[in-house]
Amino acid sequence: MTTSFTLHGIPVSRGIAIGRAHLLAPAALDVQHYLIGEDQVEAEVSRLQCALAAVRTELQTIWNDLPKDAPAELGAFIDVHALILSDPMIADMPLDIIRTRYYNAEWALVTQIEELSAQFEEIEDAYLRERKADIQQVGERVLKQLTGSANLLPKNVDGDAPHMIVVSHDISPADMLQFRDRSFSGFITDVGGQNSHTAIVARSLDIPATVGVSFASTLIDQGDWIIIDGDAGVVVVDPAPIVLDQYREKQARQLRDRKKLGKLKKMPSVTIDGTPVTLLANIEFPDDCVHALEGGAHGIGLFRSEFLFMGRTAPATRLPSEEEQFQSYKQAVIAMKGRPVTIRTLDIGSDKPIDEDEQTSLNPALGLRAIRYCLAEPQMFMTQLRAILRASAFGPIKLLIPMLSHAFEIDQTMAMIEQAKAQLRAEKIKFDAAIPIGAMIEIPAAALALPMFIKRLDFLSLGTNDLIQYTLAIDRVDHEVAHLYNPLHPAVLYLLSTTIAMAAKAEVPISVCGEMAGDTRMTRLLLGMGLREFSMHPAQLLAVKNEILNSDLTMLEPATRKIVRTFEPKAIAEAVERLQVL
Ligand code: PEP
Ligand code: MG
Repeated sequence: MTTSFTLHGIPVSRGIAIGRAHLLAPAALDVQHYLIGEDQVEAEVSRLQCALAAVRTELQTIWNDLPKDAPAELGAFIDVHALILSDPMIADMPLDIIRTRYYNAEWALVTQIEELSAQFEEIEDAYLRERKADIQQVGERVLKQLTGSANLLPKNVDGDAPHMIVVSHDISPADMLQFRDRSFSGFITDVGGQNSHTAIVARSLDIPATVGVSFASTLIDQGDWIIIDGDAGVVVVDPAPIVLDQYREKQARQLRDRKKLGKLKKMPSVTIDGTPVTLLANIEFPDDCVHALEGGAHGIGLFRSEFLFMGRTAPATRLPSEEEQFQSYKQAVIAMKGRPVTIRTLDIGSDKPIDEDEQTSLNPALGLRAIRYCLAEPQMFMTQLRAILRASAFGPIKLLIPMLSHAFEIDQTMAMIEQAKAQLRAEKIKFDAAIPIGAMIEIPAAALALPMFIKRLDFLSLGTNDLIQYTLAIDRVDHEVAHLYNPLHPAVLYLLSTTIAMAAKAEVPISVCGEMAGDTRMTRLLLGMGLREFSMHPAQLLAVKNEILNSDLTMLEPATRKIVRTFEPKAIAEAVERLQVL
């Protein structure tokens, strides 16, 4: 009999998920992993058998081709690999995993190799322990065969898949992209922070997730029943039937509430006192526009273009070409049917490296990130600017620049945009010559030197995720300091309120596109500060609209003025609580 236990972590994506645990070993994240249907099991088994046979032939060929004077160890080495390959642990066990867990071949193989490697790790005899490397090398050979062979199987077919909960030590944003078109119903990771990009992608997939659940991947076993309460950050492992019933009821209630919110889609987004508020969506890919429209978005407030650049492995396709980018931007602007699409130029670096193996900086969040990276790689930046400009001929596009802090960075960026325009003009390619250009305000220096930005730019967008990270000097990805990540810190409120007020006074449009904009507990506070444009992941649009429809600015504004003059955290928290019932 198993015992139920509860784990606590950081809630990052709301809702209740109930399902069986699927543990992902780190290596498994490097290969495709998906569930196959029962009727596809034998085809997948034979795919793996073919790969095993091909490696057998490969080893035989290497053996035959060994020069006569080759050292004897070489032959012995190949023999060991051939023996490993025919051992039931490699030749049969992964086939069983395909048959019993419905994993695709690559995933089944990597799972088995990981399990074997872990067993070898524990062997005391140093010589035998070394054999772990041989097993991994044989595994890699088979994987190469598998990935080289065409996989004709559809990827998202199993009826049980919606009840699968991924448990992993960590999942990078690029890994997370693999889950976009698969049916996983929740995520749990040992590490990670509330506003890491992995958490942001989980939210945009609208899948309950809890991160920073220390040792989850060690304590949870494959196939355990799991409940994730994504609102509370609670994970219940092997719940008692009565607990399961309670959570099922809560899940059904949440679904009913969401359905009710659906009725707000067509209602104009105005406060009780009649002030209109613009609701925009954050997206990672052009396909996400569907969700933005479902949530009644007035446009796209943040297209995180870097996701088009991430998770690409083959060197030839390492960076998307101008044409590929142009097609993606054009797709988004056409999908939004005349509503504005704000495309943010590449915000690469920090927890979103283009190539995960290339991370070198000790403090990547303070390093060559976003616009700094783009200005250091002018050719790549020019390709992106040209693609965005070309797409602007097909509908309203706004150009948003991340991580600016210096005047010369703004000026250099503007010069590059002008250069891109001149090139297109010379080539007689159409674009919107008056494309609005805006800056993310996400470094405290930018908020504190706002007139420098107001003077040079058409609009501003507050990136609260980074603004909080840099103001409080806490890594947004590090769960060990996650408790210090506080949007209500007086310093944060000071920067937000002064930035919003200054932009309003100068009549420069300003939005918030960080996660605060989609947090219903912050809606009234931001409205009270004067914010009239919110950009968030599409799943939150209607919940935030609900708050707006029930807000009265004549009450919120004076109450908020008092809050931003308060410097005692407890008093701030209580006053923000009171805003919710004003
Ligand atoms: C932000 O920093 O608030 C933001 C919206 O950008 P990102 O989360 O992509 O860094
Ligand atoms: Mg940011």
